[in-house]
Amino acid sequence: MKITLSQYAGFCEGVQRAYDIVENITKDPNVKRPIFVLGSLVHNEDVVKKVEQMGVQKVHVEGPLEDFFEKIKDKVGTLVITSHGIGPKLYELARQYGIPLVDATCPRVIKVQRLAKNFFERDTQIVLIGEKNHKEVRGIFEWAQKIAVLIETDEDLCGLVLDPNKKIAILSQTTQDQEFVTRAAANIAKKYPHAEIIDSICLTTHHRQTEIKELAQKNDVVIAIGSPESANSTRLWEIARRVNPKSYFVQRPEELKRKWFSGCEKVAVTAGASTPGWIIADVMKTLKEL
Ligand code: SF4
Repeated sequence: MKITLSQYAGFCEGVQRAYDIVENITKDPNVKRPIFVLGSLVHNEDVVKKVEQMGVQKVHVEGPLEDFFEKIKDKVGTLVITSHGIGPKLYELARQYGIPLVDATCPRVIKVQRLAKNFFERDTQIVLIGEKNHKEVRGIFEWAQKIAVLIETDEDLCGLVLDPNKKIAILSQTTQDQEFVTRAAANIAKKYPHAEIIDSICLTTHHRQTEIKELAQKNDVVIAIGSPESANSTRLWEIARRVNPKSYFVQRPEELKRKWFSGCEKVAVTAGASTPGWIIADVMKTLKEL
């Protein structure tokens, strides 16, 4: 059985950067302890465990941000912001409460946050295509002062009503499905021809999604590796499935089933941006032994 591993499988630059930042600060005696990270560093259980083993604890925002800071003010030495980014208010409150931040927001996410802020300041209606409950989307939404219109589904698209006399800008989550964004943006531009479409899907996502379509066509079976909580990993699987129904999603090598490969000559392997290299290596090893 010929096994082809995607050239983009595993950590993207933004996730690798965030992981390295966390690893480095745990070795730096000048960083105030205890170190906490705002939510999961990445949506992957194994990476989260590794981060915990480095001595970094996880903290979640529950309720209003002011209450959150009241609760953590005497417990947190340093707070790490993940690659997904956060809204402006958290920076402000961290400053007020004197809690040092280590900002691991991916520079490509920062770019979209800045665009949202600028469009808001220029009185432009912002349409943000992405998952409403995703951390990155919530952060960008806050930079748009919570007035962006969120589009996650075709139903949202059908119900979209904008003021035709105002400027419109279309932004998207950096890891969104390209096909959906292209279709949604074209649909909006048809109704509102003056809408400005900004391609904010990150290049890494673009390469991964383009490549997986090709791999799914050329191979008998596709294996996508990632955590079910990782939107970009499950999205790769969904894209592969549209092209090749014999596409399977696994979190770990033990989940591979021999029957998936009966009569299979060529298998392609991909992995989401939050899947660590050590899990990919384990899956590859198991596949070779099948
Ligand atoms: S997918 Fe792109 S935008 Fe998101 S963290 Fe990775 S490099 Fe950054």
